Amino acid sequence: MFDWLVVGAGFAGSVMAERLARDRNERVLVIDKRPHIAGNAYDRHDKAGLLVHQYGPHIFHTNSRQIFDYLSRFTEWRAYEHRVLASVDGMQLPIPINLDTINRLYGLDLTTEELAVWFGERAEPVEEIRTSEDVVVSQIGRELYEKFFRGYTRKQWGVDPSELDKAVTARVPTRTNRDDRYFTDEYQYMPKHGYTRMFESMLDHPNIKIMLQTDFADIRDEIPFRRVVYTGPVDEYFDHRFGKLPYRSLGFEHVTEENEWHQSVAVVNYPMDHDYTRITEYKHLTGQTHPHTSLTYEYPSDRGDPYYPVPRPENAALYKRYEALARAEENVWFVGRLATYRYYNMDQVVGQALATYRRISESIPVARPH
Ligand code: FAD
Ligand code: UDP
Repeated sequence: MFDWLVVGAGFAGSVMAERLARDRNERVLVIDKRPHIAGNAYDRHDKAGLLVHQYGPHIFHTNSRQIFDYLSRFTEWRAYEHRVLASVDGMQLPIPINLDTINRLYGLDLTTEELAVWFGERAEPVEEIRTSEDVVVSQIGRELYEKFFRGYTRKQWGVDPSELDKAVTARVPTRTNRDDRYFTDEYQYMPKHGYTRMFESMLDHPNIKIMLQTDFADIRDEIPFRRVVYTGPVDEYFDHRFGKLPYRSLGFEHVTEENEWHQSVAVVNYPMDHDYTRITEYKHLTGQTHPHTSLTYEYPSDRGDPYYPVPRPENAALYKRYEALARAEENVWFVGRLATYRYYNMDQVVGQALATYRRISESIPVARPH
């Protein structure tokens, strides 16, 4: 008899399993329907021996000392600050848009103060900022919105930014200085030996058993367990009772080139042309030296594994109905990006899992005291 069945071996499931097994000494079975642990953060060495991310580029960044310290138990780190260029009007320019982006795009020589005024002259007043279009045009105007945001967002989400919650494009700020980092978080690192190694270390405990290529639906009535942590899609858990929650998917094309480098930074975004949204070159992230280089092209799609909850009001309303079912479900905890339908980064999922674990600790007596 397992004390816990953990469905999904990504960040949500693995943090929960680690805490339950190590801190509470309870017996945990972790299952995942994929043939590997680490969820969407899974990385592996490809045929050429280059470390690549199977499900697109994952860069760890957080402002939480607690989350950073927790993960530091399972990995050493490589300091890495992420930089991204956007291919616009035949140039590769810094995104988030900053002083250099504007000066290079328009052949100007503005100062920070002048750029603030320049943006102000182009910004469109929006009474209530609700959508992903509003948030950009109200800051920097329509032309830059169309060059950098509209095409990328339509590709990525399959809908116009005016139909998406403001939170989506608000993830990418606008700057008047020359800071060209994608993130400004205090802690920005890559796991030194990769994410999968970090997960192996997290799940390496005598109380944890792992079964891969195992779907919850196939074993829920077969294997005895007392409680469940569920990190798959919440609508699937309830057999889509209220209809399907939309999740956006991606197709990944992994390519190795026989030259040393393909591009000057880890990620180049393509907001204006091509069917793919971005190209990632992993050696920038990993620091690996190799005569060849591996890349991933991302093609957004409606079909395929669920990767992104789609933030828009009707989806939030549908999720609320599932959330009410989830709350009423006894002995089951719903954690993670798919199970709580939140566009969370890795650190936020770790934070959510640690908070869920604290709630469990406060409400359920330990089954097997140390
Ligand atoms: P997942 O990693 O999706 O894990 C859920 C697991 O549950 C999966 O392995 C799945 O196979 C399994 N599962 C589902 N249903 C079942 C079932 N019925 N039975 C058995 N197993 C099941 N975050 C960052 O912080 N920085 C980044 O740079 C970043 N880049 C990203 C790039 C892309 C392309 C994507 C898609 C996401 C990115 N993220 C990034 C977000 C990050 O991937 C997530 O925050 C994190 O992986 C979510 O962890 P999770 O455990 O909630 O979900
Ligand atoms: N975005 C955009 N142009 C860009 C980068 C981002 O329009 O060059 C928008 C797009 O809608 C994207 C969102 O901002 O989905 C969030 O970008 P982020 O890089 O955080 O996406 P993720 O890495 O989560 O896929």
